Amino acid sequence: MSQAGVDPVNGSKGTIRVVQLYPRDMNIYGDWGNALVLQQRLRWHGYTPELLEYNVGDPFPDTVDIIVGGGGQDSGQLVIQDDLQARAATLKDLAEDGAPMLVICGLYQLFGHFFKTRTGAVIPGIGVLDVETHGTDERLIGNVKVSTPEFGEVLGYENHSGQTRLGSGVRPLGSVAKGTGNNSSDGHEGARYRNVVASYLHGSLLPKNPAIADFLIRTAAERKFGTFEPGHPDDRFAELAREHAARRPR
Ligand code: GLN
Repeated sequence: MSQAGVDPVNGSKGTIRVVQLYPRDMNIYGDWGNALVLQQRLRWHGYTPELLEYNVGDPFPDTVDIIVGGGGQDSGQLVIQDDLQARAATLKDLAEDGAPMLVICGLYQLFGHFFKTRTGAVIPGIGVLDVETHGTDERLIGNVKVSTPEFGEVLGYENHSGQTRLGSGVRPLGSVAKGTGNNSSDGHEGARYRNVVASYLHGSLLPKNPAIADFLIRTAAERKFGTFEPGHPDDRFAELAREHAARRPR
């Protein structure tokens, strides 16, 4: 690296590794798009992205800069539960150490204490987040608009029957202006803890909410290189996607 932070050989500010958790079993409503957005925005910011998939039984990568995890049916959550428990200490240590993470819906639930399904099965979580989730007979479906203190208006799509309650160890991502979010009673959506962002919103989330993508990238770069030097992302498509998503009815 030169003093300006740019590798004189390949012109990159450095490599950022994005690890997608369980894409084989936990990847619905376009959640994989979150990893693709991080890949493209890392390039725009001048970094070299490296995208890795981690599935049940894989060796866990030795270096991890950003974790992303998607949603899944209750059945997918059952498939990954043992492997996730085996990785609990690693993921907790990373979260405590400030690694940026984005977990959506099914993995949001399992980053909490537990998910008790509608049929009464208890899928243990890994307790990164002080939240618990109870399956209900009510399915919460539709477009969502959330007011957040950190990322402005967050837009996305929810589809879940689990309802999540936040404990005192986390704060909500925001409050819902349209849609339901964590549960049908308190008006909160998502959870924030250290550099972990958890949300029910698919769509996928990051193409419509580049502020969250850039938060993850900035945090990863600062954690790895001590500094983040932004580049010049092309936000035209993100803006169009936001306008379109904001106009959708519930
Ligand atoms: N199976 C969980 C629920 O219905 C998560 C669904 C999802 O990830 N979309 O609550």
